[in-house]
Amino acid sequence: MKIGIPRALLYYNYYPLWHSFFGDLGYQVVISPATSRAILDSGVMSCVDDACLPIKVFHGHVASLIGKVDAIFIPRLVSIYPKEFICPKFIGLPEMIKSSIKGLPHLLVLNCNAHRNLDAAYKAYVELGKMLGVKRSQAVRALQKALINQQLYESLLKKGQTPIDTLNEDKSIGESKGVIGLIGHPYLLYDEFISMGLISKLRARGYVVMVPENVAQSHIEAVCKELPKKLFWSYGKKLLGSGLAMLKGRKVDGIIFLSSFGCGIDAFIIELLQRYNHRLYQIPSALITVDEHSGQAGFNTRLEAFIDMIEWRNSREGHISPHGTSVLGH
Ligand code: SF4
Repeated sequence: MKIGIPRALLYYNYYPLWHSFFGDLGYQVVISPATSRAILDSGVMSCVDDACLPIKVFHGHVASLIGKVDAIFIPRLVSIYPKEFICPKFIGLPEMIKSSIKGLPHLLVLNCNAHRNLDAAYKAYVELGKMLGVKRSQAVRALQKALINQQLYESLLKKGQTPIDTLNEDKSIGESKGVIGLIGHPYLLYDEFISMGLISKLRARGYVVMVPENVAQSHIEAVCKELPKKLFWSYGKKLLGSGLAMLKGRKVDGIIFLSSFGCGIDAFIIELLQRYNHRLYQIPSALITVDEHSGQAGFNTRLEAFIDMIEWRNSREGHISPHGTSVLGH
């Protein structure tokens, strides 16, 4: 039996876990191809208009698996950390897919909810195994092995790799001119079609990239504890906490926020990060928002201008525009 996994949304975070779990149970795992214009267009055509770009892309990946697999894995992620939630679009994902795409094979829905504790989330995998007709003990063993693979993967990320590096053979970074922090959801940053090769472009210009997955969860928690209010959104916390950790430790020469048009979480997280940055750190920053109409030309121009600005600033010893201050700098 072939199980298809869409290469979209949190695939970039959990693919070692999912791949290992199904593979260990004896299923052939088929990953949808890398995002392309055809996949994006098919997602846009099938999905409701007001969904965000990553959700549309997910629809396109599901459609691309039809006819190639016996079942498609759709994770319903209600919560991934205790006492926190994730964007509601992840909760309704299986229903959105069922109502929007015709001719689907069997859907394997994982009902993952770690709101009470992580064990409750792990039980969902055992339940999924039972749905597939495997024994409980076999599903538990496969899950234990999959969790070890997931931990190994996360330890590589903590050492500075990005999920793209773990998927590709070429991990060369070359000589570094500086470090650029990238803040964005994994399905934006690591999907090379949506991010228009942002990571490769920065590396080609001689920059090392630092991404949210490179920042330890304990560090994110510590930084977020200093905020006046608790953040209940796991990814909002991850983006804000990792961005603040990069800024606070002055670990980056510049920071780029990559956002999807229409994302409610990004709208306030990025605004908060920018405010903290302007008030406390003044590290060069740029916001790039993508949607289904974004093109390479405009994207490249923004990126080039941002890198030029960092390099000019470095060569002029930190001189910054006098906009908003008197000529004496008061
Ligand atoms: S967090 Fe934003 S980008 Fe991600 S699924 Fe929700 S609305 Fe879309």
